[in-house]
Amino acid sequence: MMRLQTTEKKYENAFWRISKYIDSTIIHYVENCISCGICYEACPAYHIDKRYAPATIGEWFRRFYRRYMNIAGRILRKLMHAYPITPENLAKASEYAYRCTNCGLCYMVCAAGIDSGALACLTRALIREADHAPQILKTLEELEVSGKYLTPKVEEAYSKFIEEAKKILGHDVPVNDRDKAFLIPVSVVDILFAKDAVIGTMKILDKLGLSWTIPERPIGIRPPIGYASGNLSAAAGMIRTLYAYAQSLNVKAILVVDCGYMYPMLRFEGPYIAEVPQPCKILSIVEVLEDYAERGLVHPVKSTDLVTWHDPCMLMRRGGVETPKHILEEAAILTLPKNHGKYATCCGGGAHMFFLQEDVLKKLDEVLDTNLADYCKKDRFVREIAEFALKIAEHRAEELLNTGAKVILTACTSCIYMIRKSVEHSALPFVEVKHISEYLAGKI
Ligand code: SF4
Ligand code: SF4
Repeated sequence: MMRLQTTEKKYENAFWRISKYIDSTIIHYVENCISCGICYEACPAYHIDKRYAPATIGEWFRRFYRRYMNIAGRILRKLMHAYPITPENLAKASEYAYRCTNCGLCYMVCAAGIDSGALACLTRALIREADHAPQILKTLEELEVSGKYLTPKVEEAYSKFIEEAKKILGHDVPVNDRDKAFLIPVSVVDILFAKDAVIGTMKILDKLGLSWTIPERPIGIRPPIGYASGNLSAAAGMIRTLYAYAQSLNVKAILVVDCGYMYPMLRFEGPYIAEVPQPCKILSIVEVLEDYAERGLVHPVKSTDLVTWHDPCMLMRRGGVETPKHILEEAAILTLPKNHGKYATCCGGGAHMFFLQEDVLKKLDEVLDTNLADYCKKDRFVREIAEFALKIAEHRAEELLNTGAKVILTACTSCIYMIRKSVEHSALPFVEVKHISEYLAGKI
């Protein structure tokens, strides 16, 4: 009996630790869903499997919240659908929370302004706090936070990356330089999956006469990876590290090339969860390019390529960065998919999804000296979630391919990976999937 109470207390304590993130906005999300169902059709998870509607995805957090933070739920547990945190309930909650890509589409369409994705994030934070998160995510997070991701193979890959950049740019790569316009926070994922995008960005900045620097070693695996694993304290630690580094270099802005979760985390969530002020501006390469095009300061060589644009959820909906129409219309013939801008369909790669893909893990294993890809084989749940994400990606790839474009452009490493993988498996004619910087580097 005593042991049972101790275990229950342990899980309840996990809830109280993450309760610091339950502010008035979250309480609104928890309390005010009227189950109207309007958000269902917008949700990419619901599109794949009708069990996973935003309101049901968010419901698990509500159940735990009622059990511990709602007076009626504490007293009338069954009547109020208030659930205790137990291993069984955490497993059930995982089935829902890990299917959410945090795309924000539900939030866009909900008349009550409820962000079920935020509730899924908090559920994953609770699952991580209770030590029930997938081992893959936990290992990656621990490697990033401890600095142990800087293996000799990572160092070697980074040196090769710098050498390659030097050859392409025709000059030395500025490393750890002070007082530059931009710090490009190159990560392990950047050098493994987005090398051409980063080098393309450097080339564009050179052409625009904007100074930049990179760190002497990669900053994190894909910081703040705690966001993907659900460990918001770990995410806060990485944000503080990045901010402090940018401050020490006295740069004007951190320039995000991989505009996945890093962009909204550094720009909007960062000061809130890390409890420190931003040291400088946080910009995406997309907004820099678009700003230059809008002001007539850049004129790329116009091609006859028919291109389309995929708005990454984290850049557009969660980051407020508009579709870069001016620059793309200057550089090529732009055709947009039916669902674009604020209502762009998710590619399936949001939140933790990229890190649960076996091919991604195999590549990371090669440099991190880990066996993460083995978990995909062993762990049925991880395999299911990874396949689920790919189904979402196939749907988005189809929308993009239906535009007839020959090149799909975007600005997020997860989006590129997920869409490219789907395009490769599609029966429709093959098209290229690229980062905007890679595409424009030779045209500016
Ligand atoms: S649209 Fe909003 S209020 Fe309606 S079910 Fe979805 S979350 Fe609830
Ligand atoms: S954030 Fe996206 S995936 Fe998550 S519940 Fe909302 S619409 Fe569905």
